[in-house]
Amino acid sequence: MPSEIDWIEKAASVRLPARHLVGGDWVDPLADDTFDVISPRDGALLKRVPHGDAHDVDRAVASARAAFNDRRWSGMRPAARGAVLRRWAELVQEHAEDLALTISLEMGKPVREAKNVELRAVANCLRWYGEIADKRPDESPAAGDDVLALITREPAGVVAAVVPWNFPLTMTAWKLGPSLVAGNSVVLKPAEQTPFSALKLAELGLEAGLPAGVLNVVPGRGDVVGQALGRHMDVDVVTFTGSPAVGRAFLRYSGESNGKRVWPELGGKSASVILPGADIEKAARASAAGSFYNQGQMCSASSRVVVHRDIADEVLHFARLQAREMAPADPLLHDAPSGALVSEQHLQRVLGYVRTAVEEGAELLEGSTGRHSVDGHPNGSYVAPTVLGGVKPGMTIEQEEVFGPVLSVITVDSEEEAIRVANGTQYGLAASVWTRDLSAATRVSRRMQAGIVWVNCFEEGDMTVPFGGVKGSGFGRDKSAHAIDKFTDLKTIWMEVEP
Ligand code: NAD
Repeated sequence: MPSEIDWIEKAASVRLPARHLVGGDWVDPLADDTFDVISPRDGALLKRVPHGDAHDVDRAVASARAAFNDRRWSGMRPAARGAVLRRWAELVQEHAEDLALTISLEMGKPVREAKNVELRAVANCLRWYGEIADKRPDESPAAGDDVLALITREPAGVVAAVVPWNFPLTMTAWKLGPSLVAGNSVVLKPAEQTPFSALKLAELGLEAGLPAGVLNVVPGRGDVVGQALGRHMDVDVVTFTGSPAVGRAFLRYSGESNGKRVWPELGGKSASVILPGADIEKAARASAAGSFYNQGQMCSASSRVVVHRDIADEVLHFARLQAREMAPADPLLHDAPSGALVSEQHLQRVLGYVRTAVEEGAELLEGSTGRHSVDGHPNGSYVAPTVLGGVKPGMTIEQEEVFGPVLSVITVDSEEEAIRVANGTQYGLAASVWTRDLSAATRVSRRMQAGIVWVNCFEEGDMTVPFGGVKGSGFGRDKSAHAIDKFTDLKTIWMEVEP
């Protein structure tokens, strides 16, 4: 058996790049601003990072525009672009350990999960878009013998990708794969908390053969760099994953600048509806795990279990067992079931929600209103998986996205009530329904106001299917061939044919 990696020893010498990528060069930002990136694992400073500002954005957008206009990438054959993406996927796999360690230190998820789940998803995504590059024909409609009509898809131009920290490289790959394969140039703004992994991914992109200027990376504050991209007159498309408030800000930036296309993929408050007759242990454990996975920092987290009264006690029993089995530990340990929340500030926000829930009448069945202590890391940002019983529709904890390992259990008396409760928030990202009754599964999944519905499973899917929501969860779709359409324009070419 291969010996296990000593992640703690490796962490001592991990490389943390901080220069910006503009026009194929690693450059110092024009701005005189820095930001401390703190590891939530132990509260220690990872590095002081120079941050960009609006001038850095101008420089990066100009580089992306120049690369787009001279067609060094957009003019390449699709198959050649695909080969670059596939090579990039191979390099991600080769560097998976270093990337995983970087992610784990930046945002606190177990390094094992970063390597086996996140990096695998990143490589799959880049490879999949690489493979589909030359397999999307344009159209030639039957307009008549005297004309030749063509409908082509043209790359939109310069894309700004603004991403969050919770799956930092998966979200990035979901934006870069479809926008780059379509021939666009990109300016990427990673989240403040996770610049290093994004810069490393970009290094591998250059090594794979992305021409200079096709991918630019400007780390910086959301309200500075993110806003400058959103308001930039020479950005054609914004693809954004993050909170609803910032998603709406991007729509506003667009309206107040050049009317650029904005694709918002926002938060969620997904319901897991468990009906009598379901495999209760499977349903309860999967729903709880779906609420605690990635320390609950998951837009599609099944943060609300909506359960029929007849089976509520059994569901709670298994949900509580699951919570105990996912207690946080040092994310660099091989067997850590969970890691740290992204930051101390976020930890305080999550615990605030738990306290409010208790004040509003919920019952704290597992977890705590205080921080969880992990041996050797008193300053780490750890929260125990938390199960709240007696949650009623309309409570703050039932309505708002916590983005932490907190499961609310809501008891109902009928399928109709379950549907009403499940649909009763501003969000509409995902939902799951657990039942062995095929008609009930069909009825409930059809009526869920959600972009994704899982039946007797949770978080399933692959690159072939879209991911995204409705209502307050936004309207963008990542993954699948549909995502490529977000970054292209339809063009009609109409040619007269002389007799
Ligand atoms: P966030 O909205 O605070 O930040 C996301 C990105 O936007 C970051 O890069 C940030 O710097 C930038 N930003 C922040 N303020 C900005 C502003 N005023 N103008 C322009 N850009 C700005 O979100 P977060 O805390 O990083 O991530 C958590 C949120 O992301 C949750 O709501 C979660 O549900 C959502 N999310 C959604 C999906 C999805 O696919 N639907 C996936 C993952 C996360």
